[in-house]
Amino acid sequence: MNLMLDAVLVNLLKVLDKEVVLIGEALRGRYSHIWKTNTPLEAKALLLPKTTADVSTICQICYEHNQPIVVQGGLTGLVGGTVSQNTDIVVSLQRMNRIEEIDTLCRTMTVEAGCILANIHQAADAHDLFFPLNFGAKGSAQIGGCIATNAGGLRVKRFGMTRNLILGLEVVLADGKIINSLKKIIKDNSGYNLNQLFIGSEGTLGIITRATLKLEEKLVNRSSVFVGIVNFQDAIRFLRFCDAKFSGLLSAYEILWANTFEVLASRYKSLFVDKHNYYVLLEILDNHSPLFKDFVYTVFEEAVEKNLIQNAVFAHSAQEHDLFWGIREEVEVLNAQSKYQQHFDISVPINQMAGYVEQVNCELAKVEAIEHVFCFGHLADGNLHFIIGKNTDETSIKSLVNEIIYGPLSAVNGSISAEHGIGLEKKQWLSRCRTEEEIGLIKKIKDALDPKHLLNIGKIID
Ligand SMILES: Cc1cc2nc3c(=O)[nH]c(=O)nc-3n(C[C@H](O)[C@H](O)[C@H](O)COP(=O)(O)OP(=O)(O)OC[C@H]3O[C@@H](n4cnc5c(N)ncnc54)[C@H](O)[C@@H]3O)c2cc1C
Repeated sequence: MNLMLDAVLVNLLKVLDKEVVLIGEALRGRYSHIWKTNTPLEAKALLLPKTTADVSTICQICYEHNQPIVVQGGLTGLVGGTVSQNTDIVVSLQRMNRIEEIDTLCRTMTVEAGCILANIHQAADAHDLFFPLNFGAKGSAQIGGCIATNAGGLRVKRFGMTRNLILGLEVVLADGKIINSLKKIIKDNSGYNLNQLFIGSEGTLGIITRATLKLEEKLVNRSSVFVGIVNFQDAIRFLRFCDAKFSGLLSAYEILWANTFEVLASRYKSLFVDKHNYYVLLEILDNHSPLFKDFVYTVFEEAVEKNLIQNAVFAHSAQEHDLFWGIREEVEVLNAQSKYQQHFDISVPINQMAGYVEQVNCELAKVEAIEHVFCFGHLADGNLHFIIGKNTDETSIKSLVNEIIYGPLSAVNGSISAEHGIGLEKKQWLSRCRTEEEIGLIKKIKDALDPKHLLNIGKIID
């Protein structure tokens, strides 16, 4: 088939290796999200750079031709950040997946942006080190995508979000300029922290090409415990109880409402004899002597005696750890319960959470088109996820559900996005958690770094 090549493609093909530029038939089988593999990618071309120099060349040429670019990582993002049109050039970092260096004294790892998160875990582990960022999509998400979305996940409570785990970045700006700040130092007060500007910018300010990650000592003892709880306030009280007892070692504290737990756990043999209203999955990571495990048991016994929790089930083997975390992480099963879904990822101050959830559930119960309300999340971070299953995709119902979830957030000083970002899908709600002045400043930063508005146009802001 003869393809009409426009000036930008002609110039890209002149300077880049042939296998970097995919057009026409070569795009077959490509998509823009791991959950939409049957929907073909919309793009003028898909570019697979092999080096930072390639990315810089691509950006320079696109800049000269006013060519919009959409950046692809592992395609696991949940807010439409990688959605593209057939007029876009799509740049995927998948080939830039090398681990360049592991420095065991500085405890850092320097990687290309296309490195898959699970591969980073393995590489750190081989050196008795540990990279704490962890969530369900770790087998597909790339570190560049995690940085671009400031991913959170299961261990934020102890180790912070992605922005706490990054020491250095290399970024290519819209005009092709390479900003290299790949330092291994922890403290750097030499003016504005430019790296932090790019972390969480969702590909709208630059293309992240390399990163230096902060590693921790490997933690060999892992306790995973599922507990059953009667009421929500007890889940919050139990969190403080655990923090006081485990003094900083609690790394995850995940809550699941009963209906969510039942669907997620239905594929496995029953963990609990009795049913509970709430389930919390905890992780405690340490390097203490095996006797510490005994202490962990006594803490949970005390919690049962104090009526904070009803029941606790411990993982005793690697398989059981995987089973427990599989129940929490494999949330795709919840999507499968209804034909249409809406996903939410909100932040609410923990002292307001019970009231917020009660109000939201009460309003959602009145919407006939709703079949399921699945609620779960990172309770210790004040971050709840809702997956709302519906029997229709009608816009009016979508808006109503959005209004129910987002409406009360301003009053409690919450956020419409705790960790997934804004992308395309939450853009219209941004003013519910950001002031006019803040949005004005965001726009000025975009103008300064991407004056022609070519990178991920329409994501976060118009
Ligand atoms: C099952 C599942 C569970 C999840 N759990 C969590 C969770 O617990 N916590 C959480 O925070 N998130 C979670 N997520 C969503 C999370 O944001 C993404 O999984 C991840 O951070 C995105 O990485 P990615 O490589 O897939 O990026 P993509 O999805 O490919 O891209 C995401 C955004 O980043 C941009 N981008 C990608 N790479 C680059 C780059 N190199 N430079 C600049 N911009 C780039 C894209 O343009 C897009 O805007 C989950 C997703 C799934 C499917």
